[in-house]
Amino acid sequence: MRRQVADCRAEADRLGWTVAEEYVDDDVSAFSGRTRPAYERMLEDLRAGRRDAVIVWHMDRLHRRPVELEQFADTCQRAGVNDVRTLHGSIDLASGDGLLMARLLAAVAANESHSKQRRGQRKMAELADAGRPHGGGTRPFGFEADKVTHRPDEAAVIRVLAARALAGETLTSLTRWLDEQDVRTVMGKPWRTPTLRQLLLGPRIYGMRAHHGTAHAPGAWEPIIGAADGERLRVLLTDPARRTNRSARRYLLSGLCRCSLCGKPLFSVPRYETRRYLCRSGADFGGCGKIAISATPLEAWLVEAVLYRLDSPAMTQALAGQTDAPDGEVARLADALRADRDQLDELAAMYADGEIDREGHRKARTRIEARTSETQKALNRLTRRSALDGLIGNGEDLRKRWSSLDLPPQVAIVKAVLDHVVVSPATSPGRKGLDPSRVRPVWRA
Ligand SMILES: [Zn+2]
Repeated sequence: MRRQVADCRAEADRLGWTVAEEYVDDDVSAFSGRTRPAYERMLEDLRAGRRDAVIVWHMDRLHRRPVELEQFADTCQRAGVNDVRTLHGSIDLASGDGLLMARLLAAVAANESHSKQRRGQRKMAELADAGRPHGGGTRPFGFEADKVTHRPDEAAVIRVLAARALAGETLTSLTRWLDEQDVRTVMGKPWRTPTLRQLLLGPRIYGMRAHHGTAHAPGAWEPIIGAADGERLRVLLTDPARRTNRSARRYLLSGLCRCSLCGKPLFSVPRYETRRYLCRSGADFGGCGKIAISATPLEAWLVEAVLYRLDSPAMTQALAGQTDAPDGEVARLADALRADRDQLDELAAMYADGEIDREGHRKARTRIEARTSETQKALNRLTRRSALDGLIGNGEDLRKRWSSLDLPPQVAIVKAVLDHVVVSPATSPGRKGLDPSRVRPVWRA
């Protein structure tokens, strides 16, 4: 760079020109597309008529993209600056030949940069095909700087994270856990959910080399978790329902179990090995804290009960009554919902314009919101039936397919039949599996 500046100075001397200013953008390739402050300043000076000639070491230092040359040529022509010298000859931008020559040079330079880039891309693809890691950058969590050797402590953390995420624990909860364990990112920072999500979604942890964002080839390193788990994590973490609704239910019976002693809902508390539904005491929960039941046997038992119920004559009858919902009822409720939402918007606008005061706004809003919630419930009751379309009398068939269903359809089916389930205290502590006498399902009428 210094050499180029010196060459240009010598050229100015030779021509007997006075150098008004030197414009130097250090280490910024013209092709990178990054802004070049000195270059911009030069254009500005040319436009303002403060310069009458330009010496450039080589045209390809000036422009790498043809569009930039056009912009430069245009600026020079408008300002009447036609004397543009390079150390490899003079280019008269006012003459067609000069401009053509400059354009050719720019095109050649652009092509050269493109092929450099292509060479880089080809190299990257070859590395990816071979499962070799990227060069440079920070090391990935779980691996040494060679990006191949495991760091046992971090690999163990990844295994726990994957297992807990697959058991339904949220990323928020997992970042909290990492924080409690004093586990930091490779940059030494506390974990955030996007970083954690990226880690768990990365094919690298199950031994695959990623290329263009997808698992491309087996990596040159040992997997930390199994490929099937990696695949399940990807499905789980990219589930749109999960992203749009952070409070989305995570377990089959979330919100459906109640404590027989205090009537409060039970909360599913994830643990590494045994997850349980608990009556939780404390300010946030308000339960008595006296009930705990293993989640997996309870869920399995209730699924059986639900499937059995789907085949029972009582169920068929109960649903037959519901299927008579008047046509247009769903549409009517949906219209009512929309109208209420419009009213809320209007109300907010009135408040913003000072037409009503804060208290008036609050009261009206509370009233509309209560109505909205009722409408929503009625709508849910009506549309819940659709979850059962074709399922009545098909419990046997459904039993075969059950494990292949995702959680949302499973939940829809359970909720269509089951209103809630009351769980009583254990009578024989230490008993393995489920004691059905503790469980009383309350079916929907
Ligand atoms: Zn309780």
